[in-house]
Amino acid sequence: MTCDPRYDILFEPVEIGPVTAPNRFYQVPHCTGMGWQRPRMLAEMRGIKAEGGWGVVCTEYNSIHPSSDDLPHPSASLWDDSDIRAHLLMTDKVHAHGALAGAELWYGGIRTSNMMTREIALDLDSFPNSVGNPFQTRAMDKTDIKTFRHWHKRAALRARDAGFDIVYVYATHGYLISNFLNPRMNTRSDEYGGSMENRTRLVRELIEETKEAVGDRCAVAVRFAADERIGEDGMPIHGERRDMFEMLAEMPDLWDINIADYSLEMGVSRFVKEAPLEPYMDFVKSMTTKPVVTVGRFTSPDTMLSQVKRGIVDFIGAARPSIADPFLPRKIKEGRIDSIRECIGCNVCYSGDAIGVPIRCTQNPTMGEEWRKGWHPEKIAPKGSDSSVLIVGAGPAGLEAARALGERGYKVTLAEASRDLGGRVTRECALPGMSEYARVRNYREQELLEMANVEVYRESALTAQDVMAFEADHVAIATGATWRKERFNGEAYVSVAAAGSAPEILTPDDIMNGVAPKGPVLVYDEDGYYLGGVIAEKLQQDGLEVSLATPADNISDWAGKTSERWRVRTHLMKLGVETIVSHSLQSFDGNTATLTCEYSAREKPLAARSVVMVTQRSPNDALYQELLAAVDGQVEELPFTLKRIGDCEAPAIIAAATYAGHQYARELDNTVEPDEPLKHDRVDVGETSPTGAA
Ligand code: ADP
Ligand code: SF4
Repeated sequence: MTCDPRYDILFEPVEIGPVTAPNRFYQVPHCTGMGWQRPRMLAEMRGIKAEGGWGVVCTEYNSIHPSSDDLPHPSASLWDDSDIRAHLLMTDKVHAHGALAGAELWYGGIRTSNMMTREIALDLDSFPNSVGNPFQTRAMDKTDIKTFRHWHKRAALRARDAGFDIVYVYATHGYLISNFLNPRMNTRSDEYGGSMENRTRLVRELIEETKEAVGDRCAVAVRFAADERIGEDGMPIHGERRDMFEMLAEMPDLWDINIADYSLEMGVSRFVKEAPLEPYMDFVKSMTTKPVVTVGRFTSPDTMLSQVKRGIVDFIGAARPSIADPFLPRKIKEGRIDSIRECIGCNVCYSGDAIGVPIRCTQNPTMGEEWRKGWHPEKIAPKGSDSSVLIVGAGPAGLEAARALGERGYKVTLAEASRDLGGRVTRECALPGMSEYARVRNYREQELLEMANVEVYRESALTAQDVMAFEADHVAIATGATWRKERFNGEAYVSVAAAGSAPEILTPDDIMNGVAPKGPVLVYDEDGYYLGGVIAEKLQQDGLEVSLATPADNISDWAGKTSERWRVRTHLMKLGVETIVSHSLQSFDGNTATLTCEYSAREKPLAARSVVMVTQRSPNDALYQELLAAVDGQVEELPFTLKRIGDCEAPAIIAAATYAGHQYARELDNTVEPDEPLKHDRVDVGETSPTGAA
């Protein structure tokens, strides 16, 4: 297949100062949870994006000095020559595919507290740390500013020596340089504060000095916010930003435009749809002749085309779409649009950086495993034998196992009890705001359609006898999990039904099956991720009076790691859901739910006629256990190999299920040494003698 000529414009080369991008696909800087700690994993992952057709591939934020250290969130760094060597691994791989490599220079200021280096963070004033650590910054004097400029220049030179083609001045996201631009924060009385002219002085100096240092070989990009402060979604508060932009418009070689509200810029699909930054971009292109890039969770080639044709951007910027599908540009070029693995906007990728572990992705199970496990998003080893595989259950785990095994060439049968494929994603995507989760199913269902070696049977609930009679060589049980009615009290699952009563206690499965609870209803959330809030929203929309209680100190606590917690709580409060934190549900008698404070143990009675328990799930492993029981637990006695995968093995997030399905498919007929399941990317201490001396 070939590229639809309509999309040719997306594949035009674009000049960026002294370098030329081979096309308009631009992977903007994005965190990976790898940074300086995992250079080999990082290099392989970025290289695969270049192979997949991204014309520009950037690093994550790159600390320019130890006084900007973000651990436990792993950033990249350009502190010394060993950083140059580490980055060379990446730039070589990116260049091998004809793409440009970009390095984002970063200084955190108010947002870093330097937990590892224990240096003092510098910012324009003595500010409290903005992410809640009990540390303040030191106000930069003029010598500090001079020193900072020197650090920046030195890092730019290192970036050039590491082979980067684009070097960033990073002036957004609440980090040091953006604070200098901010009229409310920057009240300095020297030539770096006060007037707009003064507040932009530092960024102007940095652009000039970076150009002077590396501009003959590298393009200089600036990351800049198009609005001044956070307003309603889609309603920019530009403030003086147009004037500021006009002042700087021709200085860099490229503009990478963001906005003030990070939770909109990288919003979850529940609240934010494709191309949300467009209303903020209205003035940008008309004020500069330099190329412009911005993001928008672009997965539709038509949206991309429209953005370029209407002159909103020159480059299609992407972080998440390039994570979900590193081969997105090539698929457009090769006319394989139906094969694009579209990002679902869940932000599980972001949780890696939040937790300080390597990135993972719900849609792309190979993300982060390119080096460690040698997994490529588009290539997989051919089948290791002519054997046949039966997969029971077509949720994310079963679907991904069938897709990847189908690609390997196995004869695969996928049996699903219900009429629809997709398991939990099909059920959850019908809930408010969740429609894009269906993409987990859609991509796989589409791929399976094209595989003659995969047969899909719907409305086929298999029993142990059915599985035995099928005579497959391998059987994978992917039958998912069911939400429980109990809660876990730290030691055991316990019922909350008050003694002698039979109150209406429901689960998310009941709600998704269409059961209408009696109001007022209490949604009790011990899961702590998105579903509690989504169920509460649905019931509120259905006209019930809803309370949401959780034993955690935050509503949807884990969603803090996916950068959506704040939006979830705001949204629920605006809808009128009563939110109760730090309280666990002890009992419910059909009229009163008794909550107790996690700290004081004080009781809080709440009027409710039904309760929805969003607590834990029970693996649906009866079929697996029955098959095992048939051979008295001696799995090797079965005439097929037997494995459970996904939620049926251990309930978890959707990303864990697609990963499990993929892993099963990768490892079938391949022997993976049990004690060496993956390579270990870490600082190498080199040769040591038996006494430990180097
Ligand atoms: P996972 O996230 O692990 O993929 P899901 O709960 O999303 O799990 O999906 C499990 C799927 O398995 C559901 O679509 C369910 O209908 C199906 N299923 C459960 N039991 C059987 C069975 N005995 N035979 C066929 N399909 C089954
Ligand atoms: Fe998109 Fe979710 Fe993958 Fe991130 S983890 S790239 S948001 S599908």
